Amino acid sequence: MEKLERTKLETLHRFLTESRRVTLVSHIHPDGDAVGSTTALYLWLRSLGKEAHVCFPTRVPDSLAFIAQDAEARAYDPGCCDADILSSDLLVCLDFNALNRAEGMETLLRSLSAKKVLIDHHLAPAEDEFDLCFSRTDISSACELLFYILMEMPEIGGDARRLPPASAAALMAGMTTDTNNFANSVFPSTLEMASRLLAAGVDRDALLEALYNRYRENRIRLFGEMLKDRLVISPRGVACMFLDEAVKRRWDVREGESDGLVNQPLAIDRVKLSVLVKEEDDGSVRVSLRSKRGVSANRCARLYFHGGGHEQAAGGKILVPQDVPAAAAAGDFAARMAEQYMELYES
Ligand code: 5GP
Ligand code: MN
Repeated sequence: MEKLERTKLETLHRFLTESRRVTLVSHIHPDGDAVGSTTALYLWLRSLGKEAHVCFPTRVPDSLAFIAQDAEARAYDPGCCDADILSSDLLVCLDFNALNRAEGMETLLRSLSAKKVLIDHHLAPAEDEFDLCFSRTDISSACELLFYILMEMPEIGGDARRLPPASAAALMAGMTTDTNNFANSVFPSTLEMASRLLAAGVDRDALLEALYNRYRENRIRLFGEMLKDRLVISPRGVACMFLDEAVKRRWDVREGESDGLVNQPLAIDRVKLSVLVKEEDDGSVRVSLRSKRGVSANRCARLYFHGGGHEQAAGGKILVPQDVPAAAAAGDFAARMAEQYMELYES
């Protein structure tokens, strides 16, 4: 990773020093990196005596709640959060690249007079929406970027042992989930961060146990059904699965419980792009894309699914009725669009 700019670090430190009340926000459907980065920064700010609030546009999945347990994280609800957010003098947005990714909170966040800071690792950040941007793609995760920013703060002075222990663990957790436990997006700086956090006392074995060995049985059985009965692979190497309401109901699928399913087909030799289409409880349709090196999940998400993300991991949505007449048609639509993408752009 290239060095962080000194003037930006100094500006961030000044913003933090001058503010009394800080709001920390991440993206809709928070994942491990979103939860880990906001929690880590929250706990550090609290250790400095700042008032801080964490709010996500939608709730933290039960499987990740252990990371955020000390952060009093809330899911956005105008009744409970508006006053705290509106009275903040600093907003820090972590692990997303534009205010529209905060969906239901977007209008509120745009209306804030507070200074806005971005700490993120996605492509194409909306830099004009923020007063200060830390946006890097030569890094594994928002947690990794935040780690190196915190190391440069005078209170830490490069010594990871000065982080509150739960803050260090949250950084390790988010980096671990965004790299799929060191399977992708690993840079020399990622291993260095892991090494420094381990040396600072993070219990990685306990973390892995909590992240990967405490799922409900239903999740594993859902994966079984989807991979056995619902996975279709095209001759061009597009794997597509449609997780509809009926299957979700059968396995009582809860928020975040299908995370990771989209990665599975990439283990198959001929699969180059994996697409998971998911019907949400409110009738909207989300798409997750993962690709092998040489194929851009990000470009496919931008061109066909109103989304974006990273080169090999991206997401978006299928709009009803603009893209398909009804959610039931979303699986076929996604398979067709992804196939067309491979034909036009990747062959
Ligand atoms: P996931 O498939 O795990 O939901 O998301 C994979 C990646 O794509 C994440 O980095 C996420 O932030 C990004 N992503 C997911 N959905 C969207 C979307 O609707 N728009 C954009 N710009 N990025 C998305
Ligand atoms: Mn991330």
